Amino acid sequence: MNVSKILCVARNYADHAKEMGTAVPTEPIFFLKPTTALLPTGGTILLPPQSKRVEVETELAVILGTGGREVPADKAMTLVGGYSVFFDITARDLQAKAREDGSPWTASKGFDTFAPMSEPVPPEHVSDPHALGIRLKVNGIVRQDSNTRQMIFRIPHLIEAASQIMTLEAGDVIATGTPAGVWPIVPGDRLEADIARVGILRCTVAARNR
Ligand code: MG
Repeated sequence: MNVSKILCVARNYADHAKEMGTAVPTEPIFFLKPTTALLPTGGTILLPPQSKRVEVETELAVILGTGGREVPADKAMTLVGGYSVFFDITARDLQAKAREDGSPWTASKGFDTFAPMSEPVPPEHVSDPHALGIRLKVNGIVRQDSNTRQMIFRIPHLIEAASQIMTLEAGDVIATGTPAGVWPIVPGDRLEADIARVGILRCTVAARNR
């Protein structure tokens, strides 16, 4: 699969916005991850030496089968070519510093291996993407347990809003945000996330050597 961009949505679950102590947004907030951050399931997330606290966020990713620009919400679902389980890996300390300084999140979100993603399933497997159990286990213990119905902005709205900013292309990934329960990860951890009907994403964690 050829991914040309990874578009992530910040604070798209009310319970997560609350745990981060941030306001619930009135319009979707997007940021980009580089495609060099992609990691297939079974891969090892490498913790960079620049960060002391890296966290995992489990998200439903939408993979576009068709591109478009200024796509109205009522046509948006026709662009969807598949779904994956996605980890938005975040260097939380670097992000907190960026928030404080008013600087971009590029570093905190963009390290190599910070975008693990499961093999996509076709949209026919997922009758309603807004009613899926979403769960994360770290070393066998459940840390995130929610449902995609808790999303603030649903997929048609996300595609409409994103396509008003930039041209969307086939293969683009839209990570739709994380529910509450984001969890710090350390070397040796085993992560396993599942989203009903979409699949399972498994990763291990190791320190990256300089
Ligand atoms: Mg996220």
